[in-house]
Order: sequence, then C-alpha cells, then structure tokens
Amino acid sequence: MQRRDFLGVAGAASALALAGCEAPLTPIDGGFTGIDVARGHAMRDGALKSQAPITMKRTRVVIAGGGVAGLAAARALRLSGIEDFALLELEDTPGGNARSGIVNGIACPLGAHYLPVPNDDAREVQDLLEELGLRRRVSGRWEYDERHLCHSPQERLFFRGEWQDGLLPMHDVGESTHAQYRKFAQRVDALQHAEHFAIPTLKVALTPELLALDALPFERWLDSEGFSDAQLRWYLDYCCRDDYGAGMEQVSAWAGIHYFASRHGFHAPGSSGSGADSTPERDGVLTWPEGNGWLTQRLAAPLGDRLRTGQVVTRIAELRGGVEVDAWDAASKSMVRWQAERCIVALPVFIAARVVENAPAVLANAARHLRYAPWLVANVHLRGPLADRSGAAPSWDNVVFGTRGLGYVDARHQDLDPTPRGTVISWYRPLGPSRYDAADGRRVLLERPWTAWRDELLAELSVPHPDLPALATRIEITRYGHAMAIPTPGLLAQMGAANGGRVAAGRLSFAHADWSGYSIFEEAFTRGHVAGMGVA
Ligand SMILES: Cc1cc2nc3c(=O)[nH]c(=O)nc-3n(C[C@H](O)[C@H](O)[C@H](O)COP(=O)(O)OP(=O)(O)OC[C@H]3O[C@@H](n4cnc5c(N)ncnc54)[C@H](O)[C@@H]3O)c2cc1C
Repeated sequence: MQRRDFLGVAGAASALALAGCEAPLTPIDGGFTGIDVARGHAMRDGALKSQAPITMKRTRVVIAGGGVAGLAAARALRLSGIEDFALLELEDTPGGNARSGIVNGIACPLGAHYLPVPNDDAREVQDLLEELGLRRRVSGRWEYDERHLCHSPQERLFFRGEWQDGLLPMHDVGESTHAQYRKFAQRVDALQHAEHFAIPTLKVALTPELLALDALPFERWLDSEGFSDAQLRWYLDYCCRDDYGAGMEQVSAWAGIHYFASRHGFHAPGSSGSGADSTPERDGVLTWPEGNGWLTQRLAAPLGDRLRTGQVVTRIAELRGGVEVDAWDAASKSMVRWQAERCIVALPVFIAARVVENAPAVLANAARHLRYAPWLVANVHLRGPLADRSGAAPSWDNVVFGTRGLGYVDARHQDLDPTPRGTVISWYRPLGPSRYDAADGRRVLLERPWTAWRDELLAELSVPHPDLPALATRIEITRYGHAMAIPTPGLLAQMGAANGGRVAAGRLSFAHADWSGYSIFEEAFTRGHVAGMGVA
C-alpha cells in the first residue's frame, strides 16, 4: 500500500469514527467497472497503431465515437435519408459518458443522470424529446411526461446537522448572507437581460462583454463584485464542480454565470413567492433510474449492425478521393480499414488530435487549449432504505455541505411503488483542480485502489446516514480520466473560432461536447446533430 492510499484509508476511518459509526460490519464487495481503461491506453501507447489492417470495408460515412454526439450524428444522417454509414465505438456499449449500468439487478447511471427541460435555443433536443414521446403539445402548451420529470422533492442539503430543502445553505444563516443571495440574483438577472446566454453555445454570438467575462476567473469576478459571503461562495463553487468538474477559481466568469443565466437564473430564497425561508427548486429536469442511459439506449436502438462496438479507432486519414479509418476490432483482435466518403469525428478532442493524420489547424488549436476534469462515479447497492437525520425528506439529489463528493442520487426516486426496499445510490466525485484537489486528479484516479474511494464515500455519507456501512452490500466504481472539458478563462475565445455552427475541415466534421468547451447532453447532442446534417 502506498503512503497516499494509507493516509486516505486512515483518514476515512477516523472520519467514520467521528461520524459515530463503526467500520463496515460485513465486507462490502466491489471494484472498478464501466470503462475499459486498458483498451483506451493501448491506442495511446501505439501498441495497436502498428498493426497492419487485414480486412477492408466500405461505407458512405464513418462516425468515429458512439457517445451522445456520435449517436446524434447517426440520427441526423438517418433523418436525411442516409442509411449507409458505420458508427465505430471503443466500448462494448454505446453512450460514452451517458451510459448506464446494473448493480445487483438495479439499473443506475454510470455517468450523466439528468437532462434539464430544454429551453427554446435547444430546438434539436426538443425535437428528440418529441420523437421519444417525452414532450407533446396539449391545448397549445408543451407538456412533459410526468413519469420522467423528476418527482418532488428534487434536492436537499445536509447543513449544520440537518437536512434542508434546496441546495442553497439556509439554516441559521444571517441577514448579510440573504443580502448577498439577493444581490447575486439581481446581478445574474441583469446579465441575463443584457447578454444572450444560450444552450447550446453554438447559437451564441460572442460579444465583447461575453468575451470580457470569459477572460476572467469566476472567483476573481466574485471578488471584484463584492460577493464575499462564505455560504454563497460554497454554493457557487459546488455548482462549478457539479457542472464543470473543477472549482470556481479554475473556470471563467462566463462559465460561472452561464450555469444560471442560460437556464433558470438564480433565485434568492423568498424571491418567487415561495416564502421567506424556502428555496425554490430548480426548473424541471428529466431523469430515469438508469440516468441518461435511457436516452442513449433509444438513440442507439434503430442503428442495428451499423453500430459497431469494441472498435478502437487508431487512424483517420483524409485522402484525395475519400477518407480511410483504421479500427482495431476487439473481438477478432485484428485491424479493419474502412473507406468512406466522409468521416464524422465524434471523439474527445484530445483523442481526435492523436488519431487524425495531419490534424487540421482547428483541431490542433482546440487540443492545445482544452483541459479536462477527471471524474469518478460510485454506485452503491443498499439492502434497505437508509435511516435519516432530521429535516427535509429524502430527495432525488442529496448533497452534504463541505464535502469533496457532490452527494448522491437515488435510482429508486422515480419509482411509484412506496414499498421500502433496497436501492442503488450514485455518488459523484469530480477530480478537476479545486479547493479540495490538486491538479493531478488523473494520476490519483489511476493509482488509488477502489477501497480508498469506498472509504472516502462512506466517511462522507455516513455523517447524515450512520447506517450506510451496514446497509451497503456492493460498490461499483467508474473512472473517467478525461471526463469533461473545463471552461477555463479564455477558452470561449479560443473555441469561438470553432463556434458559430459546424466544425469541419475537408472531408472531416467534428462533433463532441468538447467543442463547446464544457460538457452537457444538449451541447453534445446539438454538435452531433449539426455535424450529421452538415455531412448529409
Ligand atoms: C460523471 C459525469 C456525469 C455527468 N452528468 C451529466 C448530467 O447529469 N447531465 C448532462 O447533461 N450531462 C452530464 N455529463 C456530461 C455528458 O455526459 C456529456 O456531455 C455527454 O455524454 C458527452 O457526449 P459526447 O458524445 O460529446 O462525448 P463522450 O461521452 O466522450 O463520447 C465519446 C465516445 O467516443 C468513444 N471513443 C473514445 N476513443 C475512441 C476510439 N479511439 N475509437 C472509438 N471510439 C472511441 C468513447 O468510448 C465514447 O463513447 C456528465 C459527465 C460525466 C463524466
């Protein structure tokens, strides 16, 4: 055991003791799952690249990468009448960061777990939701399927020894904190009216005002605006880690404000007629026990054998009359060469820059500027419902104030059957640089044994749920070394050249959430859709 791991375990054990709970009574099974780290690294290390292709195949369009963007591109091709294409995906299941898993028979997310009800800028996503029957017009108004809208109560925060509604610290905070909440709400409101903060970002015209916000770290902007309150700053930092995987000193002021201004704004408690002490819930979100895997499975279903999983793309080359894509087939352990008219590169930018021969300037520039936040998701099977501390009722999203993890969501939250029984909770842990973590998150992720993560999560969540160690039977952990792009200061300006719509160079079109400089379903989906339509 390495010193760092020993300290991690020792720290977790003492935190467990502080939380007033014993070490697990029965051993908890578990380990790493979800992502084939070795397959990805084989591509990086060049072990696969040197193999000569032994099979040749032809198609009209190759899509490299089967995450949300690649699947959206495939859908766009089909909508345009192009059926002759192949989608090559490295893992054995499609969906990328939005895949689902099953722990002890219970479906749960491996990554993304919700989709906010899209606003009018996200027309492409709205169209998908209509196609999937999630949204329909009733008496002239759009309605969302209640079964998939997150049921109330949506979120709660464990703060000062009890659960409270909403995620903004409220219990016993003073008037000066309330004044800062109100002031921040007014500032966001003013910016929302002055500028266009939109999702997806490719619909935004970059004004000098937006670029000025982009140039500044969010923390510095908060300082300059006089937002010094500790509770407000904790909450804003939590939001940055939640959406961007890194702390508020790492992301741009544009990103910190975009989080609110592009959607629901920031509601100061009591500002929406909900009572002076209550925090309004955020706008509607769609969620499923298996998270956004519900969406990616439906996007993949019509593809049939055009979806090829277990295919590691190692080379994409643009030739005079078409493109060549080499992919290592994990089943036959051999290299396949695809010849096509065009290729949609729906790979993370850092991978695209490695596999595209003579990377075009737009790709090389993006790869130079993007930094990634690693993430970890732990799915914990519980044999029965957790006991609770006093305060707000169990919610879908349950956050503990001041912890490294972002809290947990409950896979059974949408279940209409009230019978108490076992469930799976998914604990989210960003590892980008922040006040909690240094910049070496990827190394920590690779080196730490799963048991160290088990102990960290038990230590955090045992504070509100002392019976957690006794109820947990299994913990499955998914690691993402390059989970999402961090919207660092200046990135919007750099990627701006790639914005304004489709990113393409010659016969290659690029689609991935990375091209938006941060990572959510709507960005990935719209980028894939635009690339597919452009190729068609
Ligand atoms: C832990 C976590 C939680 C999240 N939660 C949410 C959420 O709740 N809501 C939300 O909207 N967003 C969330 N996101 C972000 C969201 O999941 C992403 O924006 C979206 O899924 C990205 O899709 P993508 O297609 O752009 O990228 P990716 O998911 O990165 O897809 C790229 C695909 O390319 C494949 N690939 C890589 N290399 C190769 C290769 N050499 N050959 C072939 N294939 C390859 C990968 O396996 C992958 O399937 C979360 C992300 C993470 C990591």
